[in-house]
Amino acid sequence: MAKDLLEKGAILQRDQETYAIAPHMPGGIVSAEQLRKIADVAEKYEAATLKATSSQRIAIVGLKEEDIDKAWEDLDTKPGAAIGLCVRSIKICPGTTFCKRGQQDAVGLGLKLDEKYHGMPLPSKFKMAVAGCVNSCSEPAVKDIGVMGTPKGYTVMVGGNAAVKPRLADIIADELTEEEVLELVEKIVNFTRTNGSKQRLGRVIDEMGIDKFKEGIGM
Ligand code: SF4
Repeated sequence: MAKDLLEKGAILQRDQETYAIAPHMPGGIVSAEQLRKIADVAEKYEAATLKATSSQRIAIVGLKEEDIDKAWEDLDTKPGAAIGLCVRSIKICPGTTFCKRGQQDAVGLGLKLDEKYHGMPLPSKFKMAVAGCVNSCSEPAVKDIGVMGTPKGYTVMVGGNAAVKPRLADIIADELTEEEVLELVEKIVNFTRTNGSKQRLGRVIDEMGIDKFKEGIGM
């Protein structure tokens, strides 16, 4: 039976025959040239559609298996786009770069996190988001690590997720500088790696308690 081709970043579709690929697009920010390339590939290989995903990428849906390698070549990017057990795409709002309500630089911080962590293998699926203000447009409260800008700095929350048992993240720090956020994120990712649980971080925190978790990351 056909299945996802993880090494090619290709997800089997409902028809059990064709695949979707989604080129990496940090923060959902894309140049006109890159967009044209994606459109050209979709046309050339007669994709069924293009779909904006919840992880701020554009999926080319309905490719034949024999066209997947050629499609990645034409896109001029490495195959694979952080699927499976790893740090998935970092969801980023426009922050002070573009949004009139922005209070912190969500794009700058989010792209740093993306560069460092996107695709990093971990024992569990792991999501992050950065928002430039408390409106939380990138939904940090339902991510394993959520970072939210305020007038006084960044608030960091952990253990959020959506899915069948949704969980809101616990706030563990606020009024942090960008540098302090990066240090804290590193500790949380290290904890997740060494803890080794296949469960989402929120379940791990529920089992051990938030105080123990904070101890575990040196707070
Ligand atoms: S979270 Fe705030 S800064 Fe980010 S897009 Fe929404 S309103 Fe703008």
